[in-house]
Amino acid sequence: MNILVTGGTGYIGSHACVALLEAGHDLIVVDNLYNSKIDTLEKMMRLTNKEITFYQVDLTNELAVDKIFSIHSIDGVIHFAGMKAVGESVEVPLTYYYNNIVSTMVLVKACLKYNVYRFVFSSSATVYGDNTVPFVETMDLLPTTNPYGETKAMSERILIDIAKANPTFSVSLLRYFNPVGAHESGLLGERPNGTLNNLMPYVTQAAKGVIKKLKVFGSDYPTVDGTGVRDYIHVMDLAGGHVAALNNIKKGVQIYNLGTGKGTSVLELIHAFEKENGIEVPFEFVNRRPGDIAICYADVSKANKELNWTAKRDIFAMCRDTWRFEQNLVK
Ligand code: NAD
Ligand code: UDP
Repeated sequence: MNILVTGGTGYIGSHACVALLEAGHDLIVVDNLYNSKIDTLEKMMRLTNKEITFYQVDLTNELAVDKIFSIHSIDGVIHFAGMKAVGESVEVPLTYYYNNIVSTMVLVKACLKYNVYRFVFSSSATVYGDNTVPFVETMDLLPTTNPYGETKAMSERILIDIAKANPTFSVSLLRYFNPVGAHESGLLGERPNGTLNNLMPYVTQAAKGVIKKLKVFGSDYPTVDGTGVRDYIHVMDLAGGHVAALNNIKKGVQIYNLGTGKGTSVLELIHAFEKENGIEVPFEFVNRRPGDIAICYADVSKANKELNWTAKRDIFAMCRDTWRFEQNLVK
């Protein structure tokens, strides 16, 4: 199929592009390069020996998006593009609401105009809020604690309403848990332009000595060792989830958790990283981060069954591949 991938030069998008190309799809990638680098495109093509059509376009630019749809015959859209820094979204909420919501609406408008009926959306486990684990797709969503999370919940609602009104429209809402890791080649990985947000990039910064110590947010959570528990998923497993979602897309709206179903604490992740890579990760305990929940992991039975997809790589592979990519960056 001809798939339009937004945010395709970003972290998850670039890994998914490789998996989609390997599955035989042709890709049109749209990204404004706000949080990614153009050389990622060349790396994806080198890894797969396939060509990619690329547009450096901002998705809030309706005319530019319409033009892309008018030029290409598109069979489906995977919408990764979005701003994702939780803390930043609290500081500049309008920027986040505008960017994430308007891009989604502009894209769907073009889909409806040009009869593109397959739409896969990057949502997040954050929409579950502080529900009881494991998180199941049928749960009522709870408020998130930040504008970023609200843009995900809001985009889901917009897509659900649009699918209701357009019975031929097929939407797959993919709720990612905590993507980490990198492509096994060491060529692709997470390379944000701005400040870091998530745990794993800080683990690598501490291992490299770029920061003195990793700050562990909270040591008194009701968890196995007092630190926060998350469901880390290897980005290549997540990438495979998109190929599966596209292959199995159905009319109406389907929601899938993409995780491993297994929780890992911050300390467990640090120790796995140290053991796998033979390097120390200096850390210190600091206060809890406002808005954080104690435990988050997925019930993945729906995606396992309906998409015939399972995350296969363990926490050690996630740590190994992350570190390989970091080592390659400094070479
Ligand atoms: P990323 O920042 O690496 O990639 C997003 C890409 O979108 C970037 O290349 C950026 O330049 C592009 N972009 C942003 N706004 C755009 C716009 N208006 N027009 C065109 N391009 C635009 O982020 P990622 O980690 O790859 O995340 C991809 C998607 O998955 C996002 O929607 C994110 O919210 C969602 N998600 C990510 C995580 C995570 O932990 N990484 C977890 C859950 C959900
Ligand atoms: N975390 C931490 N130090 C950091 C970044 C994150 O201790 O520098 C913890 C955080 O409190 C949470 C876990 O690591 O328990 C995962 O955080 P991340 O921001 O990666 O994902 P999210 O909280 O959005 O699930």
